[in-house]
Amino acid sequence: MANPPIGRIGVLTSGGDAQGMNAALRAIVRTSIERGIEVYAIYEGYCGLVDGGDLIRKMTWESVGGILHLGGTIIGTARSDEFRTHEGRRTAARNLLQHDIDRLIVIGGDGSLTGANIFRLEWPDLLKELVAAGEITKKSAAAHPSLLITGLVGSIDNDMFGTDMTIGADSALHRITEAVDAISSTAASHQRTFVVKVMGRHCGYLALMGGLAGGADWVLIPESPPDTDDWEKLLIERLKAGRKAGRRDSIIVMAEGAQDRHGKYIGSTHVADVLEKALGEEVRVTVLGHVQRGGTPSAFDRNLGTRLGYAAVEEVLAATPQSEPMLIGLRGNRITSSPLMECVEQTLSVTSAVNAHDYEKAMQLRGSSFKESFTTLKTLLRSLPHAPAPEQRRLRLAVMHAGSPAPGMNAAVRAAVRIGLDRGHVMLGVRNGFDGLARGEVEEMNWMSVNGWAARGGSELGTDRVVPTGKNIYQIARQIEEHAIDGILVIGGFIGYETAYNLYSARANYPAFNIPIVLLPASINNNLPGSELSIGADTALNNITDAVDKIKESAVALRRVFVVEVMGRRCGYLALMGGLATGAERVYIHEEGVNLHDLQVDVDNLNQGFALGKRLGLMIRSEDANEVYTTPFMVALFEEEGADLFDVRQAILGHLQQGGNPSPFDRIQATRLATRCIDYLIEQVETGGNLSAFIGIIGKEIKFHPVEDFPRMADIENQRPKQQWWMNIRPIARILAQPSPARIEE
Ligand code: ADP
Repeated sequence: MANPPIGRIGVLTSGGDAQGMNAALRAIVRTSIERGIEVYAIYEGYCGLVDGGDLIRKMTWESVGGILHLGGTIIGTARSDEFRTHEGRRTAARNLLQHDIDRLIVIGGDGSLTGANIFRLEWPDLLKELVAAGEITKKSAAAHPSLLITGLVGSIDNDMFGTDMTIGADSALHRITEAVDAISSTAASHQRTFVVKVMGRHCGYLALMGGLAGGADWVLIPESPPDTDDWEKLLIERLKAGRKAGRRDSIIVMAEGAQDRHGKYIGSTHVADVLEKALGEEVRVTVLGHVQRGGTPSAFDRNLGTRLGYAAVEEVLAATPQSEPMLIGLRGNRITSSPLMECVEQTLSVTSAVNAHDYEKAMQLRGSSFKESFTTLKTLLRSLPHAPAPEQRRLRLAVMHAGSPAPGMNAAVRAAVRIGLDRGHVMLGVRNGFDGLARGEVEEMNWMSVNGWAARGGSELGTDRVVPTGKNIYQIARQIEEHAIDGILVIGGFIGYETAYNLYSARANYPAFNIPIVLLPASINNNLPGSELSIGADTALNNITDAVDKIKESAVALRRVFVVEVMGRRCGYLALMGGLATGAERVYIHEEGVNLHDLQVDVDNLNQGFALGKRLGLMIRSEDANEVYTTPFMVALFEEEGADLFDVRQAILGHLQQGGNPSPFDRIQATRLATRCIDYLIEQVETGGNLSAFIGIIGKEIKFHPVEDFPRMADIENQRPKQQWWMNIRPIARILAQPSPARIEE
């Protein structure tokens, strides 16, 4: 007799819902099917596992179609008290065995993952009991001697070890940032104070990052309470000083779990009452609550869910009864796996440290970038900088842009100026890029010149898109001397990098260029060497995702193919990641090229798909993917070859991709990188160095590369890095886009 089928995969979402869970589900289902494995969804979390029946359903390719843009989880989530009991888990085991499921991917928080691990450990005993009670056969038990589990973290709080980001945290941060931006404008109009309460009972991530992105005046988080018992007095003094310095509003962002040093809960109404009395003005409380879980998932969460889901299938298929269960997470941009229960234990240890009032340990456990962000935040929200030390040499540091505007540029300038001033230096703003510098458009910036800049799109200082040559180079050298500039931070794109390299190379002829220049990658195209991400790309990706969601919706009742053209020049990042986030079936990028044979295959796939009942096709084309096979060409080709099966429309997204308020991620990265850049410049000048460099995020690290490496690392002709990490994601995009012919035939 044939062996019963083994290795069926079950997937469930549990605990609080989080945006991006659907993306993970879609990836898990489709990757499993593509690997030839049957996959079942368990509806309503562990309740579905215990109740069984119709709550455990076989999934098909189509059952997860059209769900990327939906918030929450389509298979439902619930809390189950029964699953906490031995009996409940025994029933759950029986229900799984009815479907021959012995591999389980659980998407949830630490509670859900702990539950899964207990279930796994008990599995052999549960099976024995079920056999003894005659509820399952010995054969069935023998065929599935162990339960293999893999965990993904779905939680808006970003509170788990083993991943830099949990699925849902970025979307929650979007909601918070949108709310704080909106509140800021009304608060400023009426000179009002607002207390905004965000989620996070044990974890201050959302409050901290929301405060950083929204330009808050005070932030309260559980891991690091105010270090004085008289914190109310301190807060009042700070807010009063802020108003005196010219701020028109005050915003306090606090986590649900905010507490004082003795562990006493700090309520939002208490904060409001205290401030109202002291400031003599209206103080309003906004509790964001479930708004943070709502709405469509951000591009980041969709792609995170997708990548993690794909990796979870690989992991659960590779797992053995002997191997430890793993948690799949993200470090920097890389997908990693870590021992599941170690991650849970570490997570709980932060809560224990907070409960034991050991705040130093709590911050330590949260990790270096959390700590660093809190330190930066505390500087940025000051009402005035620290006064320079009496003996201090005050450096003159310039901040400027080069290349196209990228959302987040202003947040970078704000951080650079304030950090520089707080370190005691003179900060100069250069208007209109290198062209402006050549014309001497240089002005001294003060603390309030950058007030409110974190949230603004575009580029307040202005930028320019020409690499200076000849006379301009000479003028730039003169202006550097005239303004006695000691170092320059250029926040911009490829043109900035080329210019900085040229100035560096011209040092022999122009002594003025013997100063450190540091480059901060800012370009929606994400095409800069030495950094896996550049400022602006995340905002652009969200703009693309929003636009494509709408475009897709416009065609619900029609049989239609869209060819959507996105920016990026010869760098396919936006096209690929935009395609992944919107479920495009085909992405055309310059790196891969486009040829007639591929187009023929695409036409055949479209025809076959629409003949079988498909209603919508989405092709995303990077603007410079190919000179001959342009977007109108492709539209004409598909239209002609599609005959009566479907019609074709083009959408060239254009400049909407560059516009709008920067995403929280772009604001936060801009702030982090600018802080590091200013410290780099100060260190160079103070130690007598003149090294020019470009900063970047590589994996989890922030690194500086000497500017000499620019030609080695950049593909100058195509204006992109020689190595692009995201090229590895292409196979995932391909697998998830459409079933391979073998699977269609099945
Ligand atoms: P989260 O996963 O978001 O931390 P919970 O802690 O509420 O959310 O856990 C969700 C569900 O996981 C619970 O309702 C319960 O069914 C299950 N669960 C949590 N902890 C355990 C445990 N120690 N043993 C068994 N099941 C658990």
